[in-house]
Parts: sequence; structure tokens; C-alpha cells
Amino acid sequence: MKDDSCLFCRIISGEIPSTSVYEDENVFAFKDINPQAPVHIVIVPKDHISCADDISSTNSSAVAACFEAIPVIAKEQGLTNGYRVINNCKEDGGQSVMHLHFHLIGGKKLAEKIV
Ligand code: AMP
Ligand code: ZN
Repeated sequence: MKDDSCLFCRIISGEIPSTSVYEDENVFAFKDINPQAPVHIVIVPKDHISCADDISSTNSSAVAACFEAIPVIAKEQGLTNGYRVINNCKEDGGQSVMHLHFHLIGGKKLAEKIV
């Protein structure tokens, strides 16, 4: 369900422009406005889920759909040598937009590894 106060819901609806790179029934993906690598894509479920902490058995199919989209998007973006998928959750995780999303980052050897 759309949350009219949510930036990513408004991007999904087209109300706020984005550079879309992938869309299916359940998933929308677009270029991050502040890329941290040559390829930096934000992958979101179309249904509004605030964060990883709100994932449950009732909405986890939306998360599965995002992860099914990842290899498709990665291939389209030419990430044949690998990539990183990142989720920031709530305040301590550094989440700034409260609509669940996965950062797909690559296009170079990523050095800033913390785990
Ligand atoms: P996070 O900090 O994990 O919540 O990630 C939010 C991401 O959304 C950041 O990497 C931002 O650069 C990105 N972002 C914010 N506004 C926009 C926008 N209008 N279009 C594309 N990406 C955005
Ligand atoms: Zn939303």
C-alpha cells in the first residue's frame, strides 16, 4: 500500500522522477541520486514496508521478489565480476529513507568492507 508521505512510494508512483532501471509487478529499481560506486541502484518492493525490522511471513514475498530481481539487474548493469547488496535498518543502521530498500553497488573493486 502507498504511503503518500514516503519518498520512495512517490518515486514508485512516478510522482517524483527517478532514473528507473528495472520494474516488475512487485519491484521497482532506480539509480541512487548520490552514487557511491560506478553502479549504485536502489531496489525497493512496491508495497510500503518501512524497514527490515518490519519484515514478516505476511510480507516476505516482496523481499524475495527484490532478491529475485537482483541478478537480473546486476546482469543488465554489467556486474559480471560481482557486487555488494546492502540494507541499512533504522537509526543505528543509518537508514535515511523509511521504505525498505536494498543498495546494489558495484562496477569497481569495493574496498570499504566492514563484514
Ligand atoms: P539509506 O540511507 O540506506 O536509507 O538510503 C537511501 C538512499 O536513497 C541514499 O543512498 C540516497 O542517496 C538515496 N536517495 C534519496 N533520495 C533519492 C532520490 N530522489 N532519487 C534517488 N535516490 C535517492
Ligand atoms: Zn514507501
